[in-house]
Amino acid sequence: MDWKKLSTTKITQVYKSIFLDLCYICNAKAQNTLCKSCHEGFPANLNHCQHCKRPTQKSSILCGQCQSSQPAYQVCIAPYRFEGIIKTLIHSIKFNQGTHYIRPLIYLLSEHLIESYSSESWPEQILYVPSHPSRIKERGFCQTKAMTTQLTRNLKELLGEKCPAIPKNNPLRKIKNTKAQHSLSRKERLKSPQSSYQLDGPIAKHVALFDDVMTTGSTIENCTKLLLKAGAERVDVWVIARTPDKEY
Ligand SMILES: [Zn+2]
Ligand SMILES: [Zn+2]
Repeated sequence: MDWKKLSTTKITQVYKSIFLDLCYICNAKAQNTLCKSCHEGFPANLNHCQHCKRPTQKSSILCGQCQSSQPAYQVCIAPYRFEGIIKTLIHSIKFNQGTHYIRPLIYLLSEHLIESYSSESWPEQILYVPSHPSRIKERGFCQTKAMTTQLTRNLKELLGEKCPAIPKNNPLRKIKNTKAQHSLSRKERLKSPQSSYQLDGPIAKHVALFDDVMTTGSTIENCTKLLLKAGAERVDVWVIARTPDKEY
Protein backbone atom coordinates (compact mmCIF):
# COMPACT_ATOMS: atom_id res chain seq x y z
CA MET A 1 0.00 0.00 0.00
CA ASP A 2 1.28 3.45 -0.85
CA TRP A 3 0.69 5.35 2.37
CA LYS A 4 1.59 8.69 0.78
CA LYS A 5 -1.51 8.48 -1.38
CA LEU A 6 -3.84 7.90 1.55
CA SER A 7 -5.67 10.71 3.29
CA THR A 8 -5.23 11.26 7.03
CA THR A 9 -8.83 10.16 7.58
CA LYS A 10 -8.16 6.88 5.79
CA ILE A 11 -4.97 6.30 7.77
CA THR A 12 -6.86 6.90 11.03
CA GLN A 13 -9.56 4.50 9.89
CA VAL A 14 -7.07 1.75 9.03
CA TYR A 15 -5.18 2.33 12.28
CA LYS A 16 -8.38 2.05 14.30
CA SER A 17 -9.45 -1.15 12.54
CA ILE A 18 -6.10 -2.78 13.18
CA PHE A 19 -5.61 -1.78 16.78
CA LEU A 20 -9.01 -1.10 18.29
CA ASP A 21 -11.19 -4.05 17.25
CA LEU A 22 -13.42 -1.99 15.02
CA CYS A 23 -15.27 -3.20 11.96
CA TYR A 24 -13.17 -2.73 8.81
CA ILE A 25 -16.20 -1.49 6.90
CA CYS A 26 -18.35 0.67 9.18
CA ASN A 27 -16.04 1.28 12.17
CA ALA A 28 -18.55 -0.09 14.69
CA LYS A 29 -17.25 -2.16 17.60
CA ALA A 30 -16.47 -5.61 16.26
CA GLN A 31 -14.69 -8.82 17.01
CA ASN A 32 -12.50 -10.32 14.30
CA THR A 33 -12.48 -7.62 11.62
CA LEU A 34 -16.23 -7.29 10.87
CA CYS A 35 -19.32 -6.32 12.85
CA LYS A 36 -22.39 -8.57 12.83
CA SER A 37 -24.54 -6.36 10.60
CA CYS A 38 -21.83 -5.88 7.92
CA HIS A 39 -21.14 -9.61 7.97
CA GLU A 40 -24.84 -10.40 7.53
CA GLY A 41 -24.95 -8.20 4.43
CA PHE A 42 -22.39 -10.38 2.62
CA PRO A 43 -23.93 -12.40 -0.26
CA ALA A 44 -23.38 -16.00 0.86
CA ASN A 45 -23.22 -18.52 -1.98
CA LEU A 46 -25.89 -20.81 -0.55
CA ASN A 47 -27.45 -22.40 -3.63
CA HIS A 48 -24.78 -23.61 -6.00
CA CYS A 49 -23.61 -26.39 -8.29
CA GLN A 50 -22.23 -29.26 -6.21
CA HIS A 51 -18.95 -29.34 -8.06
CA CYS A 52 -18.00 -25.91 -9.48
CA LYS A 53 -20.00 -23.80 -6.95
CA ARG A 54 -21.63 -21.78 -9.74
CA PRO A 55 -24.57 -19.94 -8.13
CA THR A 56 -27.84 -21.67 -9.02
CA GLN A 57 -31.52 -21.37 -8.13
CA LYS A 58 -31.67 -24.74 -6.37
CA SER A 59 -28.99 -26.25 -4.19
CA SER A 60 -27.28 -29.64 -4.54
CA ILE A 61 -27.50 -29.98 -8.27
CA LEU A 62 -24.83 -30.41 -10.92
CA CYS A 63 -24.87 -27.48 -13.38
CA GLY A 64 -25.18 -28.06 -17.12
CA GLN A 65 -21.52 -27.29 -17.71
CA CYS A 66 -20.30 -29.80 -15.09
CA GLN A 67 -22.71 -32.40 -16.48
CA SER A 68 -21.26 -32.09 -19.96
CA SER A 69 -17.65 -31.88 -18.81
CA GLN A 70 -16.51 -32.40 -15.23
CA PRO A 71 -13.88 -29.84 -14.10
CA ALA A 72 -10.33 -31.13 -13.54
CA TYR A 73 -10.14 -29.87 -9.95
CA GLN A 74 -11.41 -32.07 -7.13
CA VAL A 75 -13.08 -29.51 -4.89
CA CYS A 76 -14.08 -25.87 -5.21
CA ILE A 77 -14.58 -23.68 -2.14
CA ALA A 78 -16.41 -20.43 -2.93
CA PRO A 79 -18.23 -19.00 0.12
CA TYR A 80 -19.61 -15.84 -1.53
CA ARG A 81 -21.24 -14.61 -4.69
CA PHE A 82 -19.43 -11.91 -6.59
CA GLU A 83 -22.07 -9.23 -6.15
CA GLY A 84 -23.08 -6.46 -3.71
CA ILE A 85 -20.60 -5.60 -0.97
CA ILE A 86 -18.20 -8.42 -1.94
CA LYS A 87 -17.89 -6.98 -5.44
CA THR A 88 -17.36 -3.46 -4.06
CA LEU A 89 -14.64 -4.60 -1.66
CA ILE A 90 -12.74 -6.70 -4.21
CA HIS A 91 -12.89 -3.87 -6.77
CA SER A 92 -11.65 -1.48 -4.13
CA ILE A 93 -8.68 -3.79 -3.37
CA LYS A 94 -7.79 -4.09 -7.05
CA PHE A 95 -8.36 -0.62 -8.37
CA ASN A 96 -8.72 1.80 -5.48
CA GLN A 97 -5.96 1.23 -2.94
CA GLY A 98 -8.34 -0.72 -0.68
CA THR A 99 -5.77 -3.28 0.45
CA HIS A 100 -6.98 -3.05 4.07
CA TYR A 101 -10.10 -4.96 2.96
CA ILE A 102 -7.94 -8.03 2.31
CA ARG A 103 -7.91 -8.81 6.02
CA PRO A 104 -11.67 -9.14 6.62
CA LEU A 105 -12.27 -11.00 3.35
CA ILE A 106 -9.49 -13.49 3.99
CA TYR A 107 -10.61 -13.89 7.58
CA LEU A 108 -14.03 -15.02 6.30
CA LEU A 109 -12.50 -17.38 3.75
CA SER A 110 -10.25 -18.90 6.45
CA GLU A 111 -13.26 -19.57 8.68
CA HIS A 112 -15.04 -21.24 5.80
CA LEU A 113 -11.99 -23.39 4.97
CA ILE A 114 -11.61 -24.57 8.56
CA GLU A 115 -15.22 -25.75 8.45
CA SER A 116 -14.88 -27.38 5.02
CA TYR A 117 -11.72 -29.31 5.94
CA SER A 118 -12.89 -30.44 9.38
CA SER A 119 -12.94 -34.06 8.19
CA GLU A 120 -10.74 -33.76 5.07
CA SER A 121 -6.99 -33.69 4.74
CA TRP A 122 -5.49 -30.25 4.05
CA PRO A 123 -3.52 -29.60 0.86
CA GLU A 124 0.25 -29.58 1.28
CA GLN A 125 0.86 -26.45 -0.75
CA ILE A 126 -0.97 -23.19 -1.58
CA LEU A 127 -0.42 -21.61 -4.97
CA TYR A 128 -2.24 -18.63 -6.45
CA VAL A 129 -3.35 -17.45 -9.88
CA PRO A 130 -1.02 -14.49 -10.46
CA SER A 131 -1.55 -11.30 -12.46
CA HIS A 132 0.71 -10.50 -15.41
CA PRO A 133 3.93 -8.63 -14.39
CA SER A 134 2.88 -5.52 -16.33
CA ARG A 135 -0.45 -5.37 -14.48
CA ILE A 136 1.38 -5.82 -11.16
CA LYS A 137 3.59 -2.88 -12.13
CA GLU A 138 0.53 -0.79 -12.98
CA ARG A 139 -1.26 -1.52 -9.66
CA GLY A 140 1.85 -1.65 -7.54
CA PHE A 141 1.06 -5.10 -6.17
CA CYS A 142 -0.40 -8.51 -7.02
CA GLN A 143 -3.66 -8.82 -5.11
CA THR A 144 -3.78 -12.63 -5.19
CA LYS A 145 -0.24 -12.79 -3.78
CA ALA A 146 -1.14 -10.37 -0.96
CA MET A 147 -4.32 -12.35 -0.24
CA THR A 148 -2.49 -15.71 -0.19
CA THR A 149 0.13 -14.31 2.20
CA GLN A 150 -2.64 -13.18 4.56
CA LEU A 151 -4.45 -16.51 4.16
CA THR A 152 -1.32 -18.48 5.08
CA ARG A 153 -0.82 -16.23 8.11
CA ASN A 154 -4.38 -16.94 9.30
CA LEU A 155 -4.20 -20.66 8.65
CA LYS A 156 -0.84 -20.95 10.38
CA GLU A 157 -2.37 -19.44 13.49
CA LEU A 158 -5.34 -21.79 13.34
CA LEU A 159 -3.70 -25.00 12.13
CA GLY A 160 -0.07 -24.81 13.19
CA GLU A 161 1.88 -27.66 11.60
CA LYS A 162 -0.98 -28.75 9.37
CA CYS A 163 -0.97 -25.42 7.51
CA PRO A 164 -0.24 -25.81 3.79
CA ALA A 165 3.11 -24.35 2.73
CA ILE A 166 3.36 -21.31 0.51
CA PRO A 167 6.37 -21.64 -1.82
CA LYS A 168 8.88 -18.78 -1.71
CA ASN A 169 8.24 -18.20 -5.40
CA ASN A 170 4.80 -19.00 -6.74
CA PRO A 171 5.43 -21.62 -9.46
CA LEU A 172 2.57 -20.28 -11.61
CA ARG A 173 3.37 -17.33 -13.83
CA LYS A 174 1.19 -15.38 -16.19
CA ILE A 175 3.10 -15.03 -19.41
CA LYS A 176 0.47 -13.49 -21.68
CA ASN A 177 -1.07 -10.16 -20.83
CA THR A 178 -4.63 -10.97 -21.83
CA LYS A 179 -7.45 -8.47 -21.36
CA ALA A 180 -8.91 -8.41 -17.82
CA GLN A 181 -11.54 -11.17 -17.52
CA HIS A 182 -14.25 -8.78 -16.36
CA SER A 183 -13.91 -6.71 -19.54
CA LEU A 184 -14.55 -9.72 -21.81
CA SER A 185 -17.82 -11.25 -22.87
CA ARG A 186 -18.51 -14.80 -21.70
CA LYS A 187 -17.73 -16.15 -25.15
CA GLU A 188 -14.40 -14.30 -25.23
CA ARG A 189 -13.53 -15.46 -21.70
CA LEU A 190 -14.12 -19.08 -22.57
CA LYS A 191 -11.82 -18.65 -25.54
CA SER A 192 -8.94 -17.27 -23.36
CA PRO A 193 -5.94 -19.33 -24.44
CA GLN A 194 -4.47 -22.00 -22.21
CA SER A 195 -0.97 -20.76 -22.81
CA SER A 196 -1.51 -17.58 -20.76
CA TYR A 197 0.12 -19.34 -17.77
CA GLN A 198 3.35 -21.22 -17.26
CA LEU A 199 4.42 -23.50 -14.45
CA ASP A 200 7.90 -23.56 -13.08
CA GLY A 201 8.90 -25.22 -9.78
CA PRO A 202 8.17 -28.23 -7.59
CA ILE A 203 4.49 -29.09 -7.15
CA ALA A 204 3.08 -31.05 -4.20
CA LYS A 205 0.73 -34.00 -4.67
CA HIS A 206 -2.22 -32.21 -3.07
CA VAL A 207 -2.38 -28.53 -4.01
CA ALA A 208 -4.71 -25.64 -3.14
CA LEU A 209 -5.10 -23.12 -5.93
CA PHE A 210 -6.25 -19.67 -4.77
CA ASP A 211 -7.88 -16.92 -6.81
CA ASP A 212 -9.95 -13.97 -5.57
CA VAL A 213 -12.88 -14.41 -7.97
CA MET A 214 -13.89 -17.25 -10.26
CA THR A 215 -15.94 -16.17 -13.27
CA THR A 216 -16.37 -18.75 -16.04
CA GLY A 217 -13.81 -21.02 -14.42
CA SER A 218 -11.65 -21.21 -17.57
CA THR A 219 -8.55 -19.65 -15.94
CA ILE A 220 -8.84 -21.99 -12.96
CA GLU A 221 -9.39 -24.98 -15.26
CA ASN A 222 -6.33 -24.11 -17.36
CA CYS A 223 -4.12 -23.69 -14.29
CA THR A 224 -5.48 -26.91 -12.75
CA LYS A 225 -4.61 -28.84 -15.90
CA LEU A 226 -1.06 -27.44 -15.81
CA LEU A 227 -0.70 -28.52 -12.17
CA LEU A 228 -2.01 -32.02 -12.88
CA LYS A 229 0.34 -32.34 -15.82
CA ALA A 230 3.24 -31.31 -13.57
CA GLY A 231 2.56 -34.11 -11.07
CA ALA A 232 -0.18 -32.87 -8.75
CA GLU A 233 -2.69 -35.62 -7.97
CA ARG A 234 -5.36 -33.44 -6.50
CA VAL A 235 -6.13 -29.73 -6.91
CA ASP A 236 -8.56 -27.94 -4.57
CA VAL A 237 -9.75 -24.53 -5.73
CA TRP A 238 -10.17 -21.78 -3.12
CA VAL A 239 -11.84 -18.54 -4.15
CA ILE A 240 -13.55 -15.80 -2.16
CA ALA A 241 -16.40 -15.39 -4.60
CA ARG A 242 -18.04 -16.99 -7.63
CA THR A 243 -19.70 -14.83 -10.29
CA PRO A 244 -23.37 -15.65 -10.96
CA ASP A 245 -24.20 -16.23 -14.64
CA LYS A 246 -25.66 -13.19 -16.45
CA GLU A 247 -28.90 -15.03 -17.19
CA TYR A 248 -29.15 -16.20 -13.57
ZN1 LIG B 1 -19.59 -3.06 10.22
ZN1 LIG C 1 -20.96 -26.87 -12.04
